[in-house]
This record gives sequence, C-alpha cells and structure tokens, in this order.
Amino acid sequence: MILNALECSILREYVMDKKHWFLICILVLLGVFVKAQSIALAVGNAASGDGCGSTMPFCFISQPNGQTEAIGGITMPKIATPAWLSAQQQAAPNTPQPSGVQQVAYSVATRGNVSANVDEFKATILSTLNSPNGWSRMGVRFNEVASGGQFTFWLSEASQMTTFSANGCDTYASCRVGTNVIFNQDRWLGGSTAWNNAGGSLGGYRQMVINHEVGHWLGHGHRSCQGAGQPAPVMQQQTLDMQGCAPNSWPLAGELYSSTLGIRS
Ligand SMILES: [Zn+2]
Repeated sequence: MILNALECSILREYVMDKKHWFLICILVLLGVFVKAQSIALAVGNAASGDGCGSTMPFCFISQPNGQTEAIGGITMPKIATPAWLSAQQQAAPNTPQPSGVQQVAYSVATRGNVSANVDEFKATILSTLNSPNGWSRMGVRFNEVASGGQFTFWLSEASQMTTFSANGCDTYASCRVGTNVIFNQDRWLGGSTAWNNAGGSLGGYRQMVINHEVGHWLGHGHRSCQGAGQPAPVMQQQTLDMQGCAPNSWPLAGELYSSTLGIRS
C-alpha cells in the first residue's frame, strides 16, 4: 500500500485532469492487479496442463488436477517373481522339452518250424502296438529293435509253446512268460474257435492277441466280460470263451494303465 500510494503520488504529477486524479489512480491500480492475477493463472495452468489456455485471463483449475497429484503420489508395489517362473525364464530357450511319451524297445524272434510270413508278423505287431486305438493311448511308443529290448515277441510253433513254460503255456493258446511274449503259430494262422464263432475276423484276432499278451507284460491280469453284448476287455481270455461279450481287439478305457511302466489310470 505504501508503494501504491507512492505510485499514485507520482502519477498525480503527470495526470492532466487534476480534479479526477484519484479515480484514475484507482483504475490504474485495478488494471495492474487484474493483469498480475492473469499471469499467475497462466503460469499455473501451463504447469498443470489441464487444458486451460495460457491466453485466457481466467481459468478454473478443475478437480482432475487434484486427482493427478493424488495418483502421482501413489507408489507401485514391488511384485516378486515366483520361483517356478524364474526357473522357466532362466531355462535356455533351446532346451528340448520332455515329450511325455515313453519309449519301449522290443525284438522279434521265432521258435520251431515257422511257416508263417515273419515280415507280416513283425509289421502287424508294430502297427498294432502303436495304433491310436491301442496301448499307445497311454503315451507309449513301441520300437522294434534287432535284438534284446525290454521284451521279445515270439512266433512259435504250437508244439514248442511249452518250452517257454511247462505250466504257464499250452499248445493251444498264446502266452507270456517273463519278458517273453509268445504268439502260437496255429492261432496266428487260424484264429480260435470261440473268436471265430462270435464273428471276429482273423485280422482282429491277431490284434487282440498282440494287445492281450503285451498287456500281461505291461502288468495286467485277466478280466471278465461285464455284460452280454458289451465289447470284451482286451485282457479277457477271448481265445477260449467270449462269455457273451462282443469280440474286441483293443484295451478299454479302464484298462489303460501299466504297473510295469509306472502309468496310472
Ligand atoms: Zn492272458
């Protein structure tokens, strides 16, 4: 006010209208005050960026400006990375992932006087074991090797069957003894009476016996027919008696497990 009074007294000397100098002085001071307020608001608006033009003499600072200040004061919490995710991220990108498919190697051999086509025998075993209808549904791949392997699949003359086991095998059926899986050549060539009488095909019989005897190696015992007309479990002795079931070459869903391979149902 002291400065304003001084300014007014100086202004008094230069105003031509001596009678109204005080009114003119008030108007000049009011103009200076309004201009100063306008500059202050323009600076504030430019800093906050709330959309008020810097050329506008008046502008209301709206609520979002306060919210912006509040959001700016929030500190984002630090989120820890789980150990399992860190392990994945640290793993080399070219590291091969486990396929989840177990590999089983087996060999094929014959015993006695074998007249059947051995190449056809081998091809039928390989395609049956790896059929999408068969044991491969457990996530297993069967690979034939020249010798050795986890089991040996034999094509045996009927009279030689008991040489594998006097008690476990007979000259009519096929059997499994330890790591020996044995197909009786007479059954390979002609099927069985029970199967044939039920309308089963020779090709289906061969697939059934392959799956049945390998099923023993996988850890399965025998099963019974669960109802007339139903598909027989592959572990039912369909060579001997259909028990009212329909011929079936493939393991049922409830048979898809293996204690030998550690596969649970
Ligand atoms: Zn059996």
